[in-house]
Amino acid sequence: MIFNQVELAPADPILGLTDAFKADPRSDKVNLGVGIYKDESGQTPILKSVKLAEQKLLDNETSKSYLGIDGVQAYNSAVQTLLFGEQHQVLQQQRTVTAQAPGGTGSLRVAAEFVARNTDSNTIWVSNPTWANHNNIFQSAQLQVKQYRYYDAPTHSMDFDAMLADLATAKAGDLVLLHGCCHNPTGIDLNQSQWQTIAELCLQKELVPLFDFAYQGFGDGVEEDAQGLRLVADIVPELIVANSFSKNFGLYNERIGAVTLVAKDQDTAKTAFSQVKSTIRGNYSNPPAHGALIVATILGDNELRAMWEAELQQMRERIAQMRVLFVDTLKSVGVSQDFSFISTQNGMFSFSGLNKAQVERLREEFGIYIVGSGRISVAGMTRDNMPAICHAIAQV
Ligand code: PLP
Repeated sequence: MIFNQVELAPADPILGLTDAFKADPRSDKVNLGVGIYKDESGQTPILKSVKLAEQKLLDNETSKSYLGIDGVQAYNSAVQTLLFGEQHQVLQQQRTVTAQAPGGTGSLRVAAEFVARNTDSNTIWVSNPTWANHNNIFQSAQLQVKQYRYYDAPTHSMDFDAMLADLATAKAGDLVLLHGCCHNPTGIDLNQSQWQTIAELCLQKELVPLFDFAYQGFGDGVEEDAQGLRLVADIVPELIVANSFSKNFGLYNERIGAVTLVAKDQDTAKTAFSQVKSTIRGNYSNPPAHGALIVATILGDNELRAMWEAELQQMRERIAQMRVLFVDTLKSVGVSQDFSFISTQNGMFSFSGLNKAQVERLREEFGIYIVGSGRISVAGMTRDNMPAICHAIAQV
């Protein structure tokens, strides 16, 4: 027997919270933990563009035969265009390769394992703080995780000088995890001049950017949110992107994302891609089709694409409205602390500055679930639950 040697794993900091939420019998409980978009009525709807694409697929599908190791080809090229735009040099020079992968998580894992298995590089730098699963993913792929400073808690702002100082100690070949937009958990992104500085640092020190791009379209817009990535790709010879369509297409449970490599030339890209495929083959063999076919159908059809962009805009705008309402409601229930920084943050999350003890009280006394770091999913707020949330925060 071997199972008795196994130690109990700690609950996942985010999904473990969802389990606790589900088990909570209170009817007025609110889940602001996991990053899932909810509409004004508290539902996570299927986008209309997705439903229409699925109908098309259902009507036209003729086979359930295996996909190739790298997935749906039309999907992979649509991903490249969405990431870089039609005209970017990395596409024109054909030094970009993409493999469909299961969600952002699967894409990050394939990327990390590809690097760990095939290169001298064994270290990845992640921001402090970062998405809780990054450590787990990269350590599972045998990479050593180091942290660069990113956030200045007292001022609720970016500590860019500290980020540069920490990355200045990285060695050639190290990976640097960068959030493409809507930094999770802080909601604070680099501006164009900071992207430029980071790109030049990576070039000079031969660091390899790994973009985690899980929220394209949730910041300022589909094109706007890709500006940092495109600028970095203008400057550095090599980079990796792990992107996800869980949030921006609402395809959470379809597990759809992609890993994209940009190499210095076409031959290097081809060789590297052969090892990306080998990594996938030894892992899950080849990806499931449905999510990729939905995304490819929408992005390949002008009408569906326009509909998707409008739906994405609606999600983005609702979250922005909730940020403003959150700040205003806190003020109106008598919270004297200044929370105005929340309305300038990007994406689904707000880094509230609430501490562990306050987070615990919110859960135990009020049934309001947020992550221990104080990260609040603004996407889970509605006009209906806002007063209760703000009254509870005022109490703690
Ligand atoms: N990266 C970040 C920053 C995220 O917040 C998430 C999801 O919460 C992911 C990656 C993973 O997304 P997926 O559900 O597609 O694996």
